[in-house]
Amino acid sequence: MSTHHKTTLLSVQHLHKAFGGNQAVNDVSFNLQAGELLALIGPNGAGKSTTFNLVNGQLSPDSGSITLDGVSLLGRKPNELWRMGVSRTFQIAQTFGSLTVAENVQMALLSADGKSLAPWQRATHYRRADALQLLEQVQLDTQANRPCSALAYGDVKRLELAMALANEPRLLLMDEPTAGMAPDERHALMALTRSLVNQRGVAVLFTEHSMDVVFEHADRVLVMARGALFAQGTPAQVQADPQVQAVYFGSGKTFGASTTEAQA
Ligand code: ADP
Ligand code: MG
Repeated sequence: MSTHHKTTLLSVQHLHKAFGGNQAVNDVSFNLQAGELLALIGPNGAGKSTTFNLVNGQLSPDSGSITLDGVSLLGRKPNELWRMGVSRTFQIAQTFGSLTVAENVQMALLSADGKSLAPWQRATHYRRADALQLLEQVQLDTQANRPCSALAYGDVKRLELAMALANEPRLLLMDEPTAGMAPDERHALMALTRSLVNQRGVAVLFTEHSMDVVFEHADRVLVMARGALFAQGTPAQVQADPQVQAVYFGSGKTFGASTTEAQA
């Protein structure tokens, strides 16, 4: 997997997207390498989710290009992207509450294999061992047979991560995966994501409104405000950037304190 290191996987160039007169994404460009954890941060309304939804095919840009391994992603729907090895998790967890934890992963495995079930069938026996192995990777194997609806919120987010891994993605997109989590849970999910990046050589684009969550774990950080990307670099570089300080801490607060719980 480390053979993929330092290869540009995702390339986003001069992306624009307006809603009416509102430039939600204004000339955003960045690259993402295999094996890299890239955090996209910025205050609410900065344009993170719009950028994210442009990359995952939910939205199409007004102009600009998005390529994966040199292949344009423009005009491709999320299903097609999933088959190309692009997975995502959602700001609001999306699972099937009536199925067990393992069956949720088995549904994702079915989908990754291009198969589907009739409405009266269950995925109980489909690639069960693979499902359990994925659950082990997100430390949910002991909960495999519980109904998904019985899981704590943080565990649902980890289940969602296991489901996103079912198609062995090259690119994993996570839109505010830690929204609604307590601080220690946030750090645990980031640390888990970090270890999966290292193990699998997958590239991750991770949006987050709170800075402190990403600094410990991201390789690189992009900072957006009002639709534009105005700073990028290592966590240390971004942390030291006076413009970033002004956007986040105009009121003089320091790093470390979570400034954004109330916005979550
Ligand atoms: P973030 O994820 O950083 O909080 P968003 O990308 O959700 O920011 O929003 C960026 C801007 O685009 C905001 O001004 C928001 O109101 C606007 N916006 C986002 N989605 C839509 C939409 N579907 N229709 C109209 N305006 C939108
Ligand atoms: Mg958002």
